[in-house]
Amino acid sequence: MDLSFLKTMPKVELHAHLNGSLKMDSIQELGMELYGDNSDEFLREIKHFVEFASGNDEDKLNKCFQKFQFMHKLTATKEGLELATEKVIRDFASDNVFYLELRTTPKANSNMSRRQYIEIILHTLEDCHKKYDIIVKLLVSIDRSQGHQVAEEIIDLAIEMRNKYPSLVKGIDLSGNPAIGCFEDFVESLQKAKNAGLKLALHCAEIDNEMETQEMLDFNFDRCGHGTFLTSQQVEQCKKQLITIECCLTSNVKCGTVKGYDLHHFKYLFENKVKAVICTDDCGVFDSTLTEELLIACRTYGLNKEHVYGLSKNAIEASFASKEEKQVMLKRTDEYFKDNQDI
Ligand SMILES: [Zn+2]
Repeated sequence: MDLSFLKTMPKVELHAHLNGSLKMDSIQELGMELYGDNSDEFLREIKHFVEFASGNDEDKLNKCFQKFQFMHKLTATKEGLELATEKVIRDFASDNVFYLELRTTPKANSNMSRRQYIEIILHTLEDCHKKYDIIVKLLVSIDRSQGHQVAEEIIDLAIEMRNKYPSLVKGIDLSGNPAIGCFEDFVESLQKAKNAGLKLALHCAEIDNEMETQEMLDFNFDRCGHGTFLTSQQVEQCKKQLITIECCLTSNVKCGTVKGYDLHHFKYLFENKVKAVICTDDCGVFDSTLTEELLIACRTYGLNKEHVYGLSKNAIEASFASKEEKQVMLKRTDEYFKDNQDI
């Protein structure tokens, strides 16, 4: 598979966390814009960037988490959040992603409320739509480590925001450390979101916890983040319930939940004709792009152009875009494949 074919191909990204998707160059750019090149604070912070770039693999994973923390710090002000959101969208657009679903947990601090956090992002999504020719939707994340009370508050806010910005706020994500908290705690809130018509894209079977995975599948949702430890029966259940599985290759390999690309469950899903899509998860933290993830998939699992077309179609269908938006995306994708038959 040709890299330039994948690079110029119009792509759909369904699983991207805002705070993990800012690339190294953009972090530096953001640091300069927020602190200025002469400020002592920036000089202190820039040391982290140098550290991220060096070290062995083990160090790198630790540094990934430091990078996350650092990103949260950079987006803790209104200005930082707005600039970071724009840069993330710009970077996806430059990789020819033409439809993006960004997910993030609304954070409250001394600079802004959770409501303001969401509104700043939504205004930036609107601005970026025209500026970078990209459709961007928001999935509001619940961090499972924050417990059910915060989750309840966030769901109410998500419903309120969806009513105010129906074309931008599309769904709910459940994420955060999968070893903390239990799904049961969030059932009521998620049911409320479901009843209100919000879609659900939940991190599920990210670690080996068969019972919880089963509870989640029985509850039912729209898209499964990772699905690394789904049993073959559970995979069948996903198929029956039309759940699409969001596979994040490099993220899983770098975090160690999958031992190597050749052992990734995408292969099993693909061979068993389960609806799956390729996503980046945190392309800034894991230093990847959607083009690179697709190239890895093509090279590791022997995908040809027809398979890639199938993945693009899966992604469009599984997206939370409107019917009209899906038709436009499908048309553009069909045209691209038709115009580039010989590459
Ligand atoms: Zn994720």
